[in-house]
Amino acid sequence: MPIFGVSALWSETADNYLRELSSSSVKAVEIGFNSRVPRALPENVVDLAKSLDIRLSIHLPFFMSWIDSPKTSQSTKYLTEGAALANTLDTVAVFHLGYYGQRKFEDLRPGILEGIKSAIDSTRSSGSKQGLFGIETSGKIAEIGSLQEILAIAKEFSDTDVIPIVDWSHLYARSNGQFPRSEDDYRSVIDALESELRLKRFYFHASGIEFENHQEKRHLSVKTCVPPLPQLLKVLNEIGCEYTLIVESPNPIPDVLWLEDVRKAPEAWLEFAEERLRRSGLQQTLA
Ligand SMILES: [Zn+2]
Repeated sequence: MPIFGVSALWSETADNYLRELSSSSVKAVEIGFNSRVPRALPENVVDLAKSLDIRLSIHLPFFMSWIDSPKTSQSTKYLTEGAALANTLDTVAVFHLGYYGQRKFEDLRPGILEGIKSAIDSTRSSGSKQGLFGIETSGKIAEIGSLQEILAIAKEFSDTDVIPIVDWSHLYARSNGQFPRSEDDYRSVIDALESELRLKRFYFHASGIEFENHQEKRHLSVKTCVPPLPQLLKVLNEIGCEYTLIVESPNPIPDVLWLEDVRKAPEAWLEFAEERLRRSGLQQTLA
């Protein structure tokens, strides 16, 4: 069964939030950290999530940079800390690769690979390794993370160490609203994940998105249908794959409930989504 969840920043009141999620039958939460990642989450939070059957994953801070060697070693340190926490939770640590600066992806790639490898090795050497990294597609062309770049990095690792995280709204903003717009568009991405990485289980981010000049500006409700998620859910139903989909919109719980509803019969929502997508035009009418 697919698992739909929300993203939320870490807070001291995480236990209350877990109860709120549970009362809405939300089954996953990706916990974001703006600053230092702790070594472990409080035991009561982890136990509560377990007892409510809510899966926890984590999103690392946006500090990564590989543009010079001090920044690369600092980023490697952040990754190592993130891997340690993911390991205690037996989950995925999602992160962004950061900005290109004046450099090209091909120049940055060896440093990125080395940093990820070293973080994985350090986790392995400190005991049994259970966590893994998820590298997210970026929502800005100034930021490393086209689908091809993410695939190129993930290919260098086993899928028990690194998986790609496709954020559909980021692909949409990065392409300035050109992609994905149709079932075929979604299918082509899933095909690439399956054929290039032999992935069987996927982890996605989704929301609506506002953008300008290939740069994301802010996340919006999934109901804006930019990009059109009923089309995605139809494709995923056809393939019948396992996946986790984390909603990153400003008010994610109602969005999760809507998506759960759409998933039962996406065909009934295709036209609605098409219409909203058409009307979004230059994005002046989104709400
Ligand atoms: Zn992210």
